[in-house]
Amino acid sequence: MSATNQPQRALGCVEFASLFQNPLLEEPRAHGAPADVRRRYHQLARLAYHVCAACPLIDECLYRSVVQVNVAGYAAATTPHQRALIRARLKITVDPEDFDTLAGVTGRHRQVDHAEVVRLRRANPQDSLEDLARRLGCSLSTVKRHLRRERNNPSPPAPRRPAPSHEQVRAVAAEVTGRVASGVRAA
Ligand code: SF4
Repeated sequence: MSATNQPQRALGCVEFASLFQNPLLEEPRAHGAPADVRRRYHQLARLAYHVCAACPLIDECLYRSVVQVNVAGYAAATTPHQRALIRARLKITVDPEDFDTLAGVTGRHRQVDHAEVVRLRRANPQDSLEDLARRLGCSLSTVKRHLRRERNNPSPPAPRRPAPSHEQVRAVAAEVTGRVASGVRAA
């Protein structure tokens, strides 16, 4: 029970899941989309923006979705494109990992790159290769081939940059989105 006995409210993106999971918000807009599609997109983005702006976790959510996990869709009042711009300015890269991958849900077999297979193996040493293949959405033989290549010719360790601070992420996000760093300006 919470100290204040106040009922806990669901996060806005959970409470308004149909908004945040609207395909128009989740997928990048096609170039040259018709005017009515663009108008609808802006309506949805404005609504989602106000939900995130009122969320008590927005700072943490922004940091996590920029620095730690490359989530899909709209999060922390930013689009995936804006988060990519923020990462570029911060000179950081984050492994592409969407909610589906995190949840172990995949579609049909797809191309995976070598680093992706190796990273997932290192992160999940207890998992079977079948599990890894399922999570990567590729065949078992593809996983085995990449792990064999890694054994025979190990990848050099990636150079590590220090993680940016929350303040840096907030400041760069403000530059990219054109909003003030702490607080909300009308979308
Ligand atoms: S800031 Fe993050 S946790 Fe909060 S509503 Fe937006 S997406 Fe959800």
